[in-house]
Amino acid sequence: MIKKGVGKMGTEVEAGGYVKLPTFLEQGFLDLKREVVAKRICCLCGTCVAFCDKIKTVDAVEPEFVEDYDTVCGLCYAFCPRTFLPLSEIERRIFGEEQKDVFGVYRSCYAVRSKKEDVKGQDGGAVTSLLAYALEAGMIDCAVITTSDDHWKPVTKVAKNYESLKEGAGTKYTLYPGVVGVKEAMEAGCENIGFVGLPCQIQGLRKVQTAEQPYEVGKEKIKLLIGLFCMENFKADLLDFIANNYVKLEKVRKFDIKGKDFLVHADEKHSIPLDEIKKYVGEGCSVCVDYTAELADISVGSVGSEDAWSTIFARTERGEEIVRGAVEKGYVEVKEIEKKGLGLIRRLAENKRKSGEKDY
Ligand SMILES: Cc1cc2nc3c(=O)[nH]c(=O)nc-3n(C[C@H](O)[C@H](O)[C@H](O)COP(=O)(O)OP(=O)(O)OC[C@H]3O[C@@H](n4cnc5c(N)ncnc54)[C@H](O)[C@@H]3O)c2cc1C
Repeated sequence: MIKKGVGKMGTEVEAGGYVKLPTFLEQGFLDLKREVVAKRICCLCGTCVAFCDKIKTVDAVEPEFVEDYDTVCGLCYAFCPRTFLPLSEIERRIFGEEQKDVFGVYRSCYAVRSKKEDVKGQDGGAVTSLLAYALEAGMIDCAVITTSDDHWKPVTKVAKNYESLKEGAGTKYTLYPGVVGVKEAMEAGCENIGFVGLPCQIQGLRKVQTAEQPYEVGKEKIKLLIGLFCMENFKADLLDFIANNYVKLEKVRKFDIKGKDFLVHADEKHSIPLDEIKKYVGEGCSVCVDYTAELADISVGSVGSEDAWSTIFARTERGEEIVRGAVEKGYVEVKEIEKKGLGLIRRLAENKRKSGEKDY
């Protein structure tokens, strides 16, 4: 998939006065292994796997090189969100400005609810409905979403129509290298790709879009990034723990987090204190400082809005255009977020920054 192309290496300052991003092409998979995997800070976003045919994840646990190590193309190191993250530089390139607030750069913020009765979303069904509008409007020709099997194991899907888009609705609280879906979409011939993912996955894809490197990886095909708020994600062992102690996974209709509890909705509702399942939190989550997916076009979460509504930040012009269009075409309705809701998001975002910076 990776072809040598015309690069801009050596450009110190581009038109517009931007300073060149670090390239680090001398550093490759062994460096990634030493600085990220061995330090247990890999977030399993899947960006390295998506953009290098020689890297795989073993049982969705950690990236591994599948051939003898003989080349240093360096993409894995350059794209990994955990090697280095020139946040201000990426913000200037994507948004034209740097953040002044813990919410990141944004243009507008709403509570959003789907107006489509057949969208059974995790919260307000905002993600599925905004993607449905973007597909209908021709802004994207596919959306890379995360569905699951009968046992809640995440599975990526390249959704090209409304029916398959709806299969992604609902939150899967399991680490999974979902960015590989972008590779699948490119291999399927998609030219305008939308992607939904966690803050680390959005960071990885923004690095792909902005890094100075000499390969053609199809970054111009990535047209829309919807990011999910995220305090933490869990290892697949959590699913075994739930199956062994609470309920068969095929009976579970929904997982959710409310306050200090992890909720399992089946015939009965099981409430598990988050403290009790701390050991299942992904090790790579401990250094993350991004709660609201600050680099996305649109960020979506549950906190800040009442039940059955989603909170969204529209961050880019394209993001705002999609929200506006989805309202006009009857996909979603929006209302203002109350001050109390914004206060809660702020507190959580600040807490995540503090604990992530402490652990790094
Ligand atoms: C691991 C995780 C942790 C989260 N933590 C928080 C939190 O702390 N606070 C908060 O306010 N919100 C959190 N969220 C977001 C929240 O659970 C909802 O996803 C969000 O409110 C969107 O709801 P919706 O009804 O608009 O989306 P829906 O219309 O239901 O669509 C959900 C979309 O999420 C995608 N998705 C589901 N699971 C995953 C996954 N594991 N990886 C990548 N994409 C996935 C699907 O592809 C789908 O497109 C978290 C989500 C995840 C996956």
